[in-house]
Amino acid sequence: MTLEIKGVDAYYGSVKVLEGVDFKAQQGEFLGVVGPNGSGKTTLLRAVSRILKPRVGTVLLNGSNVLEMKDKEFSRNFAAVPQDTTINFEFSALDIVLMGRNPHLGRLELESERDIEIARRSMKLTNCWHLAERPVTELSGGERQLVIIARALTQQPKVLLLDEPTSHLDINYQIEIMQLLRRLTLDEGLIVVAVIHDLNLAAIFCDRLALLHKGRIAALGTQEEVLTAENIKRIFGANVVVSRLPQTNQCYILPAKT
Ligand code: ADP
Repeated sequence: MTLEIKGVDAYYGSVKVLEGVDFKAQQGEFLGVVGPNGSGKTTLLRAVSRILKPRVGTVLLNGSNVLEMKDKEFSRNFAAVPQDTTINFEFSALDIVLMGRNPHLGRLELESERDIEIARRSMKLTNCWHLAERPVTELSGGERQLVIIARALTQQPKVLLLDEPTSHLDINYQIEIMQLLRRLTLDEGLIVVAVIHDLNLAAIFCDRLALLHKGRIAALGTQEEVLTAENIKRIFGANVVVSRLPQTNQCYILPAKT
């Protein structure tokens, strides 16, 4: 299983916001998309999830053109978790998760026992089964995020796209969600592409990072290759020190004293 983004240009009206974006992600890979505000991270996810059709370039899943898939076929392969997961209706958490089965159901077909079992499994995987009967309007931001990820998994996708899944969450949920995404790549073989704001969290959990700058990929590779003090100075304009954790050799970034 390979996801391939090939030479993608995307526009809002006449303004080009992505240019020549090229990368591949393999089955079981957790790819973090990082970059400054306005660099095109959300737009990149929109282009992959077909909300914004690339004007140039293609997106391929195992060699098949994703942009030409029928909607249901697309939703059986790709699930997206948007930045804003607020839901204003008092659906139960289980109802929300069951909506993930829609791409697998015929028109007017009701969910079967099997669909409910798949939803239950997703909620157990994301550690939110105990919330099944609760109205989503009453959940905390972190609980709601787990439910929305469970809905995405209930689609049984091959690729999971997430836009800043940990923003606005406390450190406990940040870690829980990043560990969950990691587990989903390792145990379920999912390709996860997530926009991650926090460079340190991205370094700890992602296999590789794509650093966006002004709509182009400025660096792509391991955390050592991407999270250099030079890159962070050049692209974010920030003076930082990049150190390594002695136990794991992971990068961590601290502001440099001026
Ligand atoms: P990021 O996610 O890295 O913060 P975005 O992908 O949201 O960046 O935005 C990239 C660029 O596209 C920015 O210059 C932003 O102002 C512009 N942009 C984003 N959404 C729209 C839109 N709906 N219409 C026009 N321009 C947009």
